[in-house]
Amino acid sequence: MAQLADLIQWLAGSRRIVITTHHKPDGDAMGSSLGLYNYLLKKGHQVHVVSPSDYPHFLHWLPGNAEVVTYTEELARAKQLVEEAELIFCLDFNALSRINELGELVAASGAKKIMVDHHLDPQGFEDFAYWDATACATAELIFRLIVDLGDAAAIDRDIATCLYTGIMTDSGSFRFPNTTSGVHRIIAALIDAGANNSRIHELVYDNNQENRLRFLGYCLSNRLVVMPEYHTAYFYISKQELDKFQIQTGDTEGIVNYALSLNGIKLAAFIVDRGPVRKMSFRSKGEFPANEIARKYFEGGGHRNAAGGSSSLSLPETVDRFIQILPEFEEMLKQ
Ligand code: 5GP
Ligand code: MN
Repeated sequence: MAQLADLIQWLAGSRRIVITTHHKPDGDAMGSSLGLYNYLLKKGHQVHVVSPSDYPHFLHWLPGNAEVVTYTEELARAKQLVEEAELIFCLDFNALSRINELGELVAASGAKKIMVDHHLDPQGFEDFAYWDATACATAELIFRLIVDLGDAAAIDRDIATCLYTGIMTDSGSFRFPNTTSGVHRIIAALIDAGANNSRIHELVYDNNQENRLRFLGYCLSNRLVVMPEYHTAYFYISKQELDKFQIQTGDTEGIVNYALSLNGIKLAAFIVDRGPVRKMSFRSKGEFPANEIARKYFEGGGHRNAAGGSSSLSLPETVDRFIQILPEFEEMLKQ
């Protein structure tokens, strides 16, 4: 396995570089990718962010967003960029299955692959790993990587803005347990480098469209099921409901947290019919391993307190399956 010194050597001169991130990128996926993009651009590389799919509108203001190549929209160009790349950075994921068909292209490429990530159980496809499962966000790792490259001074307003966004969104606005004092120091450095913290919060969180807010109201009033005996609450949403409210990528993000905000609830789920599959988002409090439920029963995984998976059963069958597995976890849910 390569070392940081090898990466430094790979980055010598001007390189053709692709940065990619997981399917349906979230704030950390795009924040870390565009943070690294702006940094590598500044260092004189030919660099492109290639996203496997579209991503939420509330991230489209990020510096460098206009240059992102979306694989599903610009197939030929994305393919060419990956094929011609000398270095491929894989951010916020550690298994090639997380980037769909793009994974085969990356696997087939002769480029050096650098994985920067904070998820458990890395697959090991990369040449160099900058991996730390205790990091609160991949954007935190990009900050640390730039510092390790001896380049802290290169972090300008654009880079800082992207990295701040990644850390803010993945840490639940600095409240999850892995938001250490070290993370707050990084945040302070990012603000010193020009990130406008108050404006970034506004751009990400006060960016609702009316249909999204009404959909949230509908979910809370009509589609929230609370099971106090299992300290569990979940939402379930059909394809027709998504269509009725014209719900797009990103519009459902964060709704699961409302279930977790209920007094006494330790496990929350958001189960949504995405058409081809039923997608599940799990969130938990404390020691309860949401990722174990995702891994064992829903072909997924993730972190202890934030995980996800999918199911090929129908929506009602998926909900039934979820309810039926709860007794297995009853003891842990009660603690
Ligand atoms: P979300 O609920 O926001 O979609 O996902 C939360 C976390 O769960 C993600 O950061 C990721 O770690 C994990 N996750 C979500 N969906 C999947 C999946 O289908 N497979 C795996 N392995 N992890 C997932
Ligand atoms: Mn992340």
